[in-house]
Amino acid sequence: MDLKEHIRDIPDFPKEGIIFKDITPLLMNPEAFRSCIAQFVEAYKDKGITKIASSESRGFIFGAVLAHELQAGFVPLRKPGKLPYKTIRQEFETEYSTDAFEIHEDAIEKGDKVLIVDDVLATGGTARAAVYLVEHLGGKVEALAFLIELDFLKGKEKLNGYDIMSLIHY
Ligand code: AMP
Repeated sequence: MDLKEHIRDIPDFPKEGIIFKDITPLLMNPEAFRSCIAQFVEAYKDKGITKIASSESRGFIFGAVLAHELQAGFVPLRKPGKLPYKTIRQEFETEYSTDAFEIHEDAIEKGDKVLIVDDVLATGGTARAAVYLVEHLGGKVEALAFLIELDFLKGKEKLNGYDIMSLIHY
């Protein structure tokens, strides 16, 4: 199955010069969505993953299903002010915005084997912040999984030494 057929390019969204990768056609297609999850499950089923950490909000869609399939816990990385308990925060820059994530300080335990999941790896700022938060709480980042990687933005260079998998490359 060619997953690219289910990704829609939206030029100049949310800012001029950005080509936004709209994943909603893929999510609407049961075969395409299931194929993504199946590929991730195959890659990580024997890795002993104990937690999935996902970025708000599109990362949640894949991360939550994967946590269920891998029988791992799900940890949301959320925009500031959304999580109700004690948090730690990390700021970051994305392809088109400056933002921050918070994580509950008890969300990761020492020794947790964590898989970070998001929809798109662009410049790598978001993923780098996720890695920082997980490691700050004592977790081990086993791998990072993305639906889409924008190779020309070289996000991988911010994640040297980490195991990265992306299902679609541009
Ligand atoms: P970055 O931090 O630059 O790697 O950006 C990754 C984050 O921003 C992901 O959570 C994506 O959802 C979002 N993002 C960045 N660029 C795009 C794009 N061209 N299309 C869709 N989402 C994007």
